[in-house]
Amino acid sequence: MNYNKWKCIVCGGDRKKLLYREKRITKSKITPKEAVCTGEIGSRGRHGKIWKCDTCGFVCQDFTFSENELNNAYKGGTDEIYFEQYKEREHLFEKCLDRIHQHIKPPGKMLDIGCNAGIFLNTARRMGWKTEGIEPSSWAARVARERFELKVRTGIFEKTRYKPGTYDVITSWDVLEHFVDPVMVLDKIHKLLKKDGVLVLSTIDINSWFSLVLGSHWPWLIRVHLWYFTPDTFRRLVENSGFEISWMGPQIRWFSLPYLLTRFTGKNFSWMPTISLPAPTGDIIYLVARKKQSD
Ligand SMILES: [Zn+2]
Repeated sequence: MNYNKWKCIVCGGDRKKLLYREKRITKSKITPKEAVCTGEIGSRGRHGKIWKCDTCGFVCQDFTFSENELNNAYKGGTDEIYFEQYKEREHLFEKCLDRIHQHIKPPGKMLDIGCNAGIFLNTARRMGWKTEGIEPSSWAARVARERFELKVRTGIFEKTRYKPGTYDVITSWDVLEHFVDPVMVLDKIHKLLKKDGVLVLSTIDINSWFSLVLGSHWPWLIRVHLWYFTPDTFRRLVENSGFEISWMGPQIRWFSLPYLLTRFTGKNFSWMPTISLPAPTGDIIYLVARKKQSD
């Protein structure tokens, strides 16, 4: 019996090679601090075994916790530091919305999965979308509701009921690599979109120059990133769930210099004047896809 036989979720292949050994893994539970978006510097360089599929090159990590434990960590996450980058994040999302509008224009219904404190949804609403979000962190969902008066549910997307064929656009920024079962999530998104609906997803690119140069020191190798995509495996996984890719490319992030220095040195640089810079790492990609039309 092959109860524990590994199977690649992209190509169905059953052979994998060890890419990176596990690092600093203890039996300790996963904490909310390890699960939040901006992460703790201490959670960097800590992960389980990371494998690469022999057939298609898809990369995945051994789970070092249970699904329940992971969901609880997301539920308890707070992330005040997220707002220190408000202007930069809003600027980024305006650019992304300009891109989305080349494929579908407002008005329409938009759902953002893992919407955090709502900076994207707030920007999208301003540009004419009727927005809704879902977010596992009680803190972030509450901030989105109270600070931006957004319609945001607190909950786990996989476990939440929605009416099929409801949305014109479903977005999910930097969340795909966190889902325990991304295939199930993509199938569910497919059902919730209208016939001409558009999916917008971002993820991390393990084939980017930044990842290839840093190797096992790439900062995105952390316990809560369960899957690592290349443009090719990203495309294939999304196509497998019945989508056609309309566009794919890098997402250029902007950072304020004092924020970056504080994050990397652990010292306080908040006295510095804010200077915004594009991060040339190229290791975040996103795509716009449409439901494949059956005839
Ligand atoms: Zn594979």
